[in-house]
Amino acid sequence: MTSSPRIPSVDPVKLDRLAEVAVKIGLQLQPGQDLLITAPLAALPLVRRITEHAYKAGAGLVTSLYSDEEATVMRYRNAPDDSFDRSVGWLYEGMAKAFSANTARLAVAGDNPMLLASEDPEKVSRANKAQSKAYQPALEKIAGFDINWNIVSYPNPSWAKQVFPDQEPEVAVTMLADAIFAASRVDIDDPVSAWQEHNAALRKRTEWLNARTFSALHFTGPGTDLTVGLADEHEWHGGASVAKNGITCNPNIPTEEVFTTPHALRVDGHVSSTKPLSHQGTLIENIKVRFEDGKIVEAKATRGEEVFNKVLGTDEGARRLGEVALVPHSSPISASGLLFFNTLFDENAASHIALGQCYSKCFINGGELSPGEVAARGGNRSLIHIDWMIGSGEIDVDGINKDGSPVPVMRKGEWV
Ligand code: ZN
Ligand code: ZN
Repeated sequence: MTSSPRIPSVDPVKLDRLAEVAVKIGLQLQPGQDLLITAPLAALPLVRRITEHAYKAGAGLVTSLYSDEEATVMRYRNAPDDSFDRSVGWLYEGMAKAFSANTARLAVAGDNPMLLASEDPEKVSRANKAQSKAYQPALEKIAGFDINWNIVSYPNPSWAKQVFPDQEPEVAVTMLADAIFAASRVDIDDPVSAWQEHNAALRKRTEWLNARTFSALHFTGPGTDLTVGLADEHEWHGGASVAKNGITCNPNIPTEEVFTTPHALRVDGHVSSTKPLSHQGTLIENIKVRFEDGKIVEAKATRGEEVFNKVLGTDEGARRLGEVALVPHSSPISASGLLFFNTLFDENAASHIALGQCYSKCFINGGELSPGEVAARGGNRSLIHIDWMIGSGEIDVDGINKDGSPVPVMRKGEWV
């Protein structure tokens, strides 16, 4: 006899609103456009709501690919050693082909962040590297905004257990669901209008920053004195973005950040992380790094240092920055006080930097630049893109003009 697991209590009305926001705001899916969804198996209820909203919006073909946490663990326990240097290249080539044919992309996040915590770190690192390499052609189309794309989250029970370890499983799922719904602005009756207002507020910030054309940002606070040179002809983005296919999408739900491309060769000083970085099953805490001419020359962490150094060794660009983002300390996600162990949420709780690949979109006329032109303006290139938090209520940020004079941008973590 088998017993079916109890269905966790996720508010069906808010779940349906999240699906509607993903399709109408996140993707702005167009009539006739195909859609590719990737999701953990547990997110099936959300994927079904999204699929219905997508077809109602006129989608052509909606295709879903599911990942299964148990199957992933089975691989680490049983697969032959040499298979960890391979990945499903044929699948990612197919994805890249679909994106070239204007298929929209929706990723449902919600995997257990600690799934691989007790597996062999060497195998995890090799598998990640092989996957990043195989995924590169598809990732370039997403990072370059060739198409409209979006990420939303589902409160997977295994994830909820990490965020609320002291709660009963059903209670943890309900609490995580509520946190996701609040952060995603679907806990109110008219989430589509709320998102339009939020996008307008973020646009005001990016317009101000773009008008200033700072040459650098200077972060100061406890354990941090960091000058992040900004790429030549960089452009700030936040909230809604126009993809190269002409569709305005909101790639991240939730989102609170405004972000741009740093100059890969002009980052100097030292910086301390203000929140733990959860990276593929390892928690990396109290990161302290020193930059010289854009490159990390010294890296320490009180926990997960070995994994962090492995990440930095991925390739030449992994020691340089591909993103700098500003988020006020009073953002709703920061105010929740939760650590989500999920970049989509945690990066929207604090100002952050990202190691690795830059977004070519974050340049004036970025959509038209070749990879060589992006590099010439200071854009970094890497197989990885990993965000970690450097903002808090104690961090000041100044914009540095071309003549070296500072302009206050943030004081004690808030917009001036
Ligand atoms: Zn970011
Ligand atoms: Zn990022």
